[in-house]
Amino acid sequence: MKPNGKPYFKNLKCRECGRLYPKEAIHVCEFDFGPLEVVYDYRAIKETLSRSLIEARPRSMWRYEELLPVEGEPTVGLQVGFTPLIRAVRLAAFLGVKELWVKNDSVNHPTLSFKDRVVSVALSRAKELGFQVVACASTGNLANSVAAHAAAAGMKSYVFIPHNLEQGKVLASLVYGTRVVGVRGSYDLVNRLCLEIVGKYGWGFVNVNLRPYYAEGSKTIGFEILEQLGWRIPDHTVACMASGSLLTKVYKAYQEAALVGLVKEIPFSIHGAQATGCSPISTAFRQNTDVVKPVSCPQTIAKSLAIGTPADGYYAIHTMWKTGGSCEDVTDEEIIHGMQFLAEYEGIFAEPAGGVTVACAKKLIENGSILRDSTIVLCITGNGLKTQEAVSGQSEAVRVIEPSISAFDKCFMLG
Ligand SMILES: [Zn+2]
Repeated sequence: MKPNGKPYFKNLKCRECGRLYPKEAIHVCEFDFGPLEVVYDYRAIKETLSRSLIEARPRSMWRYEELLPVEGEPTVGLQVGFTPLIRAVRLAAFLGVKELWVKNDSVNHPTLSFKDRVVSVALSRAKELGFQVVACASTGNLANSVAAHAAAAGMKSYVFIPHNLEQGKVLASLVYGTRVVGVRGSYDLVNRLCLEIVGKYGWGFVNVNLRPYYAEGSKTIGFEILEQLGWRIPDHTVACMASGSLLTKVYKAYQEAALVGLVKEIPFSIHGAQATGCSPISTAFRQNTDVVKPVSCPQTIAKSLAIGTPADGYYAIHTMWKTGGSCEDVTDEEIIHGMQFLAEYEGIFAEPAGGVTVACAKKLIENGSILRDSTIVLCITGNGLKTQEAVSGQSEAVRVIEPSISAFDKCFMLG
């Protein structure tokens, strides 16, 4: 474990000016408002961490704990992560590619989305920093995860969501006994309100004042992809974008793994996927600019991605530029098709965000941004059982028959 009980993360650092900050509950630089990021001692990590050490550990995201920002042992979400990486043979054949993998965080423990990763880091750190109350602004999945983890950790929680979310996502927060606040307005207005509440009450908001720690949790999806591929970096990784954070953290994970000697450094591309009804990042990318113009009224069935002012949009664009990645967006109809492809070819029921990823990957393959003979990983981030409204009426109807064999035969024209 950690040498002399000392953590491998030292400070927070401004991404813009490089100023160092103490590792407290702060998230922006006071000079230029740049986001703060965690700084690690990579040299010390390289000396300690090895593939075999990781492989001998329990199968959870905490097997990479040296590269996560907690000081002591993690205390929240110990079973999170190590979700299946599935070789998607049938979907690959349909898309006309050689080697396709699906990283299936729709079955992440305990709340069926990749947000369990960020929350377990954020709440482990929140406990170290002495917070009794935790909270978040969320499009649904994050609220579910904060509510569940706070309940299990015995912490009080508040989750703030747009008032018109899918019922499955609302219930999947309420059940944990959290205080669910439905705000009349878009996610961006929810987020603005939360900034004021942090200022007034000083709670631990996982994606506001705890954001530097929270965001690091996303790296673990990247580390797991590398390990599950036999410690190699895939040529192409496709991730959906709401704030754009996930994309930048997958990039960071691949870079860090190479830096500490876990994988060989090779060129790789990271691609972003958005819903056309809320596509501020892909619109900017298409216009070849890193100035992301806010979308004031998102209109998409992919509600989990409906963030009109993406906090990490600028960095997501630079990640795609740096890695030779590309970006696409897809309509609601294409999103539903994407969900159906994943369900019918691979038996995976993803939420609309997963449909966004699959449908955008299809476009990226067709337009040559992703080469057909390369290794491709699609990050599937949430579960379709929470968002049943999106596909109700889209599949074949139930066939109701009398309880007799002849009725069955007649129905399917068998016998
Ligand atoms: Zn700064």
